[in-house]
Amino acid sequence: MQDRVFNFNPGPSTLPVSVLQKAQAELVNYKGCGMSIMEMSHRAKEYVEIVAGTEALFKELTGVGDDYRVMFLQGGASQQFAMIPLNYLGAEQSADYVVTGSFAEKAFKEAQKMGNVQLAASSAEQQYNQIPPQEKLKLAADAAYVHITTNNTIYGTEWHYLPETNGVPLIADMSSDILSRPLDYSKFDFLYAGAQKNLGPSGVVLVMARKEMVANRPSSLPTMFNYETFAKHDSLYNTPPTFGIYMLNLVLQWIKENGGLTAMGQRNQAKANLIYAVIDEDDYYRGHAQEQSRSLMNITFRLPNEDLEKAFVEEATKHGLTGLKGHRSVGGMRASVYNAMSHEGCVALANFMQDFRKRNG
Ligand SMILES: *Cc1c(COP(=O)(O)O)cnc(C)c1O
Repeated sequence: MQDRVFNFNPGPSTLPVSVLQKAQAELVNYKGCGMSIMEMSHRAKEYVEIVAGTEALFKELTGVGDDYRVMFLQGGASQQFAMIPLNYLGAEQSADYVVTGSFAEKAFKEAQKMGNVQLAASSAEQQYNQIPPQEKLKLAADAAYVHITTNNTIYGTEWHYLPETNGVPLIADMSSDILSRPLDYSKFDFLYAGAQKNLGPSGVVLVMARKEMVANRPSSLPTMFNYETFAKHDSLYNTPPTFGIYMLNLVLQWIKENGGLTAMGQRNQAKANLIYAVIDEDDYYRGHAQEQSRSLMNITFRLPNEDLEKAFVEEATKHGLTGLKGHRSVGGMRASVYNAMSHEGCVALANFMQDFRKRNG
C-alpha cells in the first residue's frame, strides 16, 4: 500500500490493511445479500451470525470458558466508568480503584458520583510514570470490586502483573492493550474496551464478564444501563453499532490468522524493543515511563527541548510517520504501536529517531 502512512495515532488508530480491504470487498454486497452490512436488519440471519461469531471468536482468542459472556455496547469506554458502579456498587459497599493515569482517574471520579469508593493506590505524585506493585495496593477484603486500567494510553505505562484481589471481583479497563499479549483472561471477572485502539473502529465497546455478573441485576436500573439487558438479548436488545461489530469481527479473524495472542505478544515486544532501544542509547530521548512499567502499546518520550519536539513532529510527518505528538498532559512524543502497527512501521520510526538525533544532537 504505497500511499498509506505509518499511523501512530492513539485512537482511533491504524487498522490492518487486509481488514480494510476485506471490508471494502464486502462493502456494497455482503455475501450475495444484495446490500451492505450497514443496510441490513440487525435481526437478519447473516447479522445475528456475525454477533454470535464475534463473541465466540473473542472467547476462543482469550481462552475463557462458557462461564463468560462477551457483549457489545455503545457510549465508549467512558460510559463504562458510570455503568460499572451503577451495576456493582451497592449502597452499603465501597469499591477499590487503582489510579494509574487520566482514564483511571476519570473512572474513579465517575464512581464517586455513584457511591463509596476508595483509592487503593495512585501514582499521580510520580506523574503517572509507574504501576504500583502489589504490596502498595490497599485493598479492602469486603470491597464490591477492584478497578484497574491495564494500559495507560496517555502516560505509556502498562501493568505487567495482575493484582491478587483475594476473591474480590477484578474489573479492568483494557481499552488500549486488549488482545495485545497472552494473559490469563480468567483472572478478570469483568473487562471492557473501547474498540478504537486495538479492536476496530470507534462506536463499539466490548465487555467480557462472568455470567453471574451479568445476571440478576437490580430491576431498578435503566434498561440500557443494565448489563443483564445485553447478556439476555445477545447484544441485540436494540440496534447495536452493526458495522463496527462487523469490523471488530474482521480484526479478531486477523488476530487468529496471524497466530493469536502468543504471536501478537511476540510481535509487540519486538516492535516496542526497537523504539525503547533508541531511547535507551543516551540521554537525547527521555522516556516518561519507568522501565519496569513501560507499555508495549504507547511509547512516550521527550526531546531536549520543545522546539526540537515541534521539529520532530513536523519532519516525521513529512517522512510518512504521523500521529506522534504526545498528549498535552505529558508533552513530547507518543508512539502508539497497537497490534495493527507493522514491524516495518516501528523500524521506520526507530531509524527516523536515530537520524533526527544525529542531525540535531
Ligand atoms: C481511549 C480510552 C478511554 C476512553 O475511551 P472512549 O471510547 O473515548 O470513551 C478509556 N480508557 C482507556 C484506557 C483509553 O485508552
